[in-house]
Amino acid sequence: MKTEKILQELEVKHPGEKEYLQAVREVLLSIEQVYNEHPEFEKAKIIERLVEPDRILTFRVPWTDDQGEVHVNLGYRVQFNNAIGPYKGGLRFHPSVTLSILKFLGFEQTFKNALTTLPMGGAKGGSDFAPRGKSDAEIMRFCQSFMIEAHKVLGPNMDVPAGDIGVGGREVGYLFGMYKKLTHEHTGTLTGKGMEFGGSILRPEATGFGACYFLEQMLADAGTTIKGKTIAVSGFGNVAWGAVKKANELGAKVVTISGPDGYVYDPEGISGEKNEYMLELRASGNDVVAPYAEKYPSATFVPGRKPWEVKVDIAMPCATQNELGEEDAKHLVDNGVQFVVEVSNMGCTAEAIDYFIGHKLPFAPGKAANSGGVATSGLEMTQNAMHISWTAEEVDRYLHQIMSDVHAQCLQYGKDADGYINYVRGANIAGFMKVANAMLAQGVI
Ligand code: GLU
Repeated sequence: MKTEKILQELEVKHPGEKEYLQAVREVLLSIEQVYNEHPEFEKAKIIERLVEPDRILTFRVPWTDDQGEVHVNLGYRVQFNNAIGPYKGGLRFHPSVTLSILKFLGFEQTFKNALTTLPMGGAKGGSDFAPRGKSDAEIMRFCQSFMIEAHKVLGPNMDVPAGDIGVGGREVGYLFGMYKKLTHEHTGTLTGKGMEFGGSILRPEATGFGACYFLEQMLADAGTTIKGKTIAVSGFGNVAWGAVKKANELGAKVVTISGPDGYVYDPEGISGEKNEYMLELRASGNDVVAPYAEKYPSATFVPGRKPWEVKVDIAMPCATQNELGEEDAKHLVDNGVQFVVEVSNMGCTAEAIDYFIGHKLPFAPGKAANSGGVATSGLEMTQNAMHISWTAEEVDRYLHQIMSDVHAQCLQYGKDADGYINYVRGANIAGFMKVANAMLAQGVI
């Protein structure tokens, strides 16, 4: 494979799409060697076909605020690849959303979904809409307007969206309501639904829980356990909440969470009521964590900084892409961090990842560590298709099994001669092989 040539051509075709190009670069560098061992991939131009989404829908989303003023946002659905199953991936509502970000997320989703062992292709969508400070009624009108366009490309066997940043249970409910009205059908076309109308138990917790199950496997492989370990978490959304909850249950101590305003350091540990308060903070719609330190005197609020300067055993970025850079990686390593689990999608920059790997630190990439979220969406699809609901125990058992399978796939392709596990290479190759073989079998389409 002529990786640099392919990347250069992509840069010419898609100038300025830096997150997308970053995600593609990471995968291509990881798979180069196995790709070259399979001339049939090269012959079928698997890479050239895989890096371009199947199609992109872009549309205008007009909506009216509570004062009667009209606003216009951009809406997108990037259907990346459906070689192994219907398109599947979340919707992100955030002012930073661009086509480049949704393409990187859709690309990553394709490999992540392959790793889950479930039959799901990759997609992503969303809008540059800012939910911050919006009323319930405004959110509802926005979601309805979004779905009026988006529903045309969705369906239980076609494309199944879910949540991501800025899209939780409330938004999925409004989106589903409009989808149902427009199509006259009640199917599992969105996941992350409320429990009363087809949602899966444990879906809200699944990304964070799955990340902790993956971490447990990494620790076991390194001959240790999570008990008594200190953890720095970033973010304070649904993913951070689930990770903190499970980390506590398993006997670890989480000492930080963060928001766009800075981070909170609580040496006594963030657990129980304090963790639930995170949800209240999120629901307030203000996107700040500072009030945590006002409410709990054991905590200090550090404005404008990231939690990676705190001395911990484990770091779990749970906020957003490129939230942990090379300087942060150096701080963590200097302070003796032992494991890094990227729970956000592409949470670490390429330089930060190189630094961790260069220091032989076990580093789990997001597409493996956070795959429990979409995997549980897959379990929701299965329950919907069967018209049944599983219990929490059943879903948790599947989630455990899936995370352990994801870990095993990373080992299969990521073990170096000296025993170091390069989880990035392992996850990228395992995900790629599955999608590439499916594409090969289905011909040039
Ligand atoms: N947005 C989540 C992810 O990045 C979940 C997607 C889904 O459940 O479809 O994987």
